[in-house]
Formats: sequence, structure tokens, C-alpha cells
Amino acid sequence: MALKTDPVTTVAPLKASRITKQYLGGSFTALDDVSFELAENQITAFLGPSGCGKTTMLRIIAGLEYPTRGALEVFGKNVKGPGPDRGMIFQAYTSFPWLTAVKNVEYGMKILGISAAERRERAMNFLKLVHLDKFADSYPASMSGGMKQRVALARTLAQNPTILLMDEPFGALDAQVRWEMQELMIELIEREKKTVVAITHDIEEAIYLADRIIFFSRQPGRIKADIPVSFKGGKRFKRKEELLDLPGYGELERDLFSMMREEIK
Ligand code: ADP
Ligand code: MG
Repeated sequence: MALKTDPVTTVAPLKASRITKQYLGGSFTALDDVSFELAENQITAFLGPSGCGKTTMLRIIAGLEYPTRGALEVFGKNVKGPGPDRGMIFQAYTSFPWLTAVKNVEYGMKILGISAAERRERAMNFLKLVHLDKFADSYPASMSGGMKQRVALARTLAQNPTILLMDEPFGALDAQVRWEMQELMIELIEREKKTVVAITHDIEEAIYLADRIIFFSRQPGRIKADIPVSFKGGKRFKRKEELLDLPGYGELERDLFSMMREEIK
């Protein structure tokens, strides 16, 4: 007798269907007919020149803005506003200056109704993950930009979102702190298993972080290319320099540079 097998569920963590966003009473189209599906536990980079609609698309996914047309589904359910399934990290540091690091991390969980004891335990765990446990009682004013952004990461991850949304999260940091943060990001995502969308206009950052790169063109914002970062062989790398010698790195970098150039001329 043949065994009955369970059907395989392949509902995407996020599905954007024909998203169009217009401003100025319809006279300006920021996003035009954008469709894509995200795969579970993948890191997708939105790459493209300034003004191509990356932030608009991310804010629509977060539920902070509404598309003029089109639909958005999270695991098959229509979304119409923000929800704890989607956590957002912005470029500017968003810690509350009057709260210590640990209180900042606890804050988001308080809204979710998690008990005080559990909040503290989870907050300390996540501060440890971002290597800030020794700074639990420090205030943001006494922290560097990189440290503040690690607090923001810990706070968002502690709320356990399925989808992590990041808008140029390391854009305001010095070059060296920036790559340390990129490597930390890979470490965290390997542990926490999130579906991630990270916006960047930095080609090297996109290649290092992403499993897939969606390149946007501008005026109007459309998907110009949807590129699997296949030269990494499905792996993620703890150190940026490990990528440099892999066959395919240079070719992808060159392709992305020429796409970027086409957009900015
Ligand atoms: P990116 O993040 O790729 O730089 P944005 O999504 O911020 O691009 O913006 C896409 C386009 O939409 C830009 O031309 C921007 O000026 C325009 N735009 C964004 N928000 C608004 C708004 N609230 N009103 C009018 N135009 C907007
Ligand atoms: Mg932007």
C-alpha cells in the first residue's frame, strides 16, 4: 500500500504582488508594478541608486505605508499594517536616550506583553549576542554609533520577528565599524534564522550579506534584475575576505557596477 505523504507547504514568508506606489496625487510613481516572493531564511538585498524606491518598498512591507495598488501577503495572509512578525531597523539610531541598553532592548517586548522576568532574561541574552552584555547599564549617549546600532539589533531580534527589515542599517557608520557590523549580522542570522531584507546602495555590502540581490531601477522604481548570489554556493561567510578569492565574485561585482552606472548616467 502506498504511504500517504503530507503535502509540502511552500507559502512564502512574504509575497508582494504588483505593488505600485504613487505620490503627489498620482503624478509621481515611486514604485511601478513590483512583484517578488521571499524565501524563508534567505537574506535579500535591495540594491539600487538613491531614489529608486527601496525605502518605499521596505516601508510598505513594514506596514508603515500603503501601496496605491497591489497586495502584500505574509505567509499567505494579507497585511494591512505593522505587526510583530516584521521587525524594522533604521539607519539612524533609534534607541531611547533616557533608557539604558538593557531597558531599550526590553522596551519592545513590553509592548508584546512579555513578563518582566522573561524580558530581562531575553534582553541580556540578546545583548550578549551583539557583544554588549557588559554595557547593559550604559546609556546610548555614552556609546559609539556601532554600539547603538547593536542595541537596535538586539531590541529588534528580542521581539522575535519572522522577517527582519533593515534600511541601510550601517550607512552612518565608519568603514571599519561597518564591516564589523556586516560580519556580526551574518553571525546573528545564522543563529536566529530570519528572513531578511536589507537595503543598501553599497555593492560590496550587498554581495557579502545577501543570498539574493534585487536590483531596482529608478523613475519609476522597478525591478531591473533579480540575482541569486550563487557563487557563494548557498554558504555564508564569517569574514568578508573569504569571498574575494571565490570564482564568480569579481564577475558579479562588475555586473552590479555596470547596472549601477546605467542608472546614474
Ligand atoms: P530610495 O530609498 O531608493 O533612495 P525612496 O523610496 O526613498 O528611494 O524614494 C523613491 C522616490 O519617491 C524618490 O524620488 C522620493 O523623492 C519619492 N518619495 C518618497 N516619499 C515621498 C513622499 N512622501 N512624497 C513624495 N515623494 C516621495
Ligand atoms: Mg532609502
